[in-house]
Amino acid sequence: MQPIYILGYILHTLLIKKGRRIMSSIRFDIHTHTIASGHGSAATITDMAKAAAARGLRLLGISDHGPATPGGGKPSYFRSLAHAPKNRLGVEMLYGAEANILNNEGMLDLENAILEHLDYVIASVHKPVKKPGSIDENTTAYIAAMKNPCVRIIGHCDDVKYPVDYAAIIQAAMDNDVLLEINSSSLSPDGYRGDTRFNDLMILNLCKHYHYPVILSSDSHGTEHAGDVSYALELSKKAEMPEELILNYSTKELKCFLSR
Ligand SMILES: [Zn+2]
Ligand SMILES: [Zn+2]
Repeated sequence: MQPIYILGYILHTLLIKKGRRIMSSIRFDIHTHTIASGHGSAATITDMAKAAAARGLRLLGISDHGPATPGGGKPSYFRSLAHAPKNRLGVEMLYGAEANILNNEGMLDLENAILEHLDYVIASVHKPVKKPGSIDENTTAYIAAMKNPCVRIIGHCDDVKYPVDYAAIIQAAMDNDVLLEINSSSLSPDGYRGDTRFNDLMILNLCKHYHYPVILSSDSHGTEHAGDVSYALELSKKAEMPEELILNYSTKELKCFLSR
């Protein structure tokens, strides 16, 4: 074999290993869905934990859709999560919800009496539940949701159907100690939120400017992509997001954030 080909082979192998190392240093994914979300998966929580363990995650969060989503989790399901095991198959477990933002006043589809017993709450807008409004209206709805002390993460506010004022969103996130996520499923070629790259880059660049962390999520409905945040990670690297501003490298940082 020619020396140039040998060198090429070595470089290729090293790059693949580096790519694997980067993904394998992702410690957690806390935006995932099971059969309780009512669509897209028949996976149980244990199925998800098994997939997370296979992907090398240390911590997995289950965040099923709230009751306003057709077929979504009922209040009794979310209440019962307080009794669910905190460790499955060696993976530390957190139990949350992806609550629906119902209106521009930031009302959610689960009462705070339920939400405050969960490990965390993601608040998101979804088309079957809340119609898209103007930039002002969408921004107002997100900011109002962030003011609910139970809400710690805003889900996929990259959706092109719900344009927002990102400067105002990030300011409110910092003021209310809320994280914005970079949603890998939005960025996937199969994503159904339109071309979200520009919006995600806005979030990344503004967070970088303010030195404020982001959280990467798979938003996996089922086991196949549980813990797979590769599209979100790729864009974060393109935006030259410093590693210390990507929360997913440390479960300790996550738990510290959630305990505040
Ligand atoms: Zn969602
Ligand atoms: Zn989701």
